[in-house]
Amino acid sequence: MRLMAGVDVGGTRVKSVLADDEGSVLLSHTASTPERPGAGVVDVIVETVTALLDAARAEGVDGRLAAVGAVVPGLVDEASGSASWSANLGWRDLPLRDLLLARFDVPVAVGHDVRAGLLAEFHVGAAQGVPDALFVPLGTGIASALLASGRVVAGTEWTGEIGHVTVQPDGPLCGCGRLGCLEAVASASALGRAWRELGREGDAETLSRAVAEGDPEAVRLWHGAIDALVRVIAPVCAAAGTRVVLVGGGLAQSGAVLLEPLRDRLVSALGHDRITVSRAALGDRAGALGATLLALEAAA
Ligand SMILES: [Zn+2]
Repeated sequence: MRLMAGVDVGGTRVKSVLADDEGSVLLSHTASTPERPGAGVVDVIVETVTALLDAARAEGVDGRLAAVGAVVPGLVDEASGSASWSANLGWRDLPLRDLLLARFDVPVAVGHDVRAGLLAEFHVGAAQGVPDALFVPLGTGIASALLASGRVVAGTEWTGEIGHVTVQPDGPLCGCGRLGCLEAVASASALGRAWRELGREGDAETLSRAVAEGDPEAVRLWHGAIDALVRVIAPVCAAAGTRVVLVGGGLAQSGAVLLEPLRDRLVSALGHDRITVSRAALGDRAGALGATLLALEAAA
């Protein structure tokens, strides 16, 4: 059997999946990410794949590694296989695919975590059969990936970075050093911070429960964030003919209290109702599943 390994190196966890050559998952594994691994991410990926293969052998799986897919956050240039920049994980201009090719004697694909997540949602998740979709994970930060005519758009390494579009020129300070980025207004962490600045306790999840209960301060904050999201998402959907917006990340867990008003505002901003807003289906496994799909493509 030909085996495909997919590894998703996140800010806190390394998620990995071993699949057969039809994409069926045989094994999956989660480990902690070493603090700021930098170029050491190569060793992390090699060790993760070795551990997956050992575990498969221990379970009696008879196969050989045919390809590896590795996905990382930050700025990624898929064409050259370069991990250009990650503030949290501590690398810059890392020729990740070349470094991995020197360690594995099989094809290697390098991808971006959010784009790989959307690829998985298209093949086995919430965007199945919908070739025009926008995936927006709302977590510590905000990123996006666009599926247009069944292809994930990967133009330049800046593709998808909607989190740093200005939505409030005099708004809160963003991690990038500028004021009022979408991420500083509408990410789960920004909402939790704004909630505590109102003298309230808890995080974005507490806030979403207060919204559901009709707390006026919570509702004002929540709807301000939804308006900011729509200001950035609507033009993307209009330009690309997007039919479904998939919301992921921690904030998606608030469910209808987020998805329904987001859909209402989008319909009103777009001037038509041929758009749906759904929760992404694959959760934090999307990146690793997408990485195995990249491995499958590389092995073909
Ligand atoms: Zn920013």
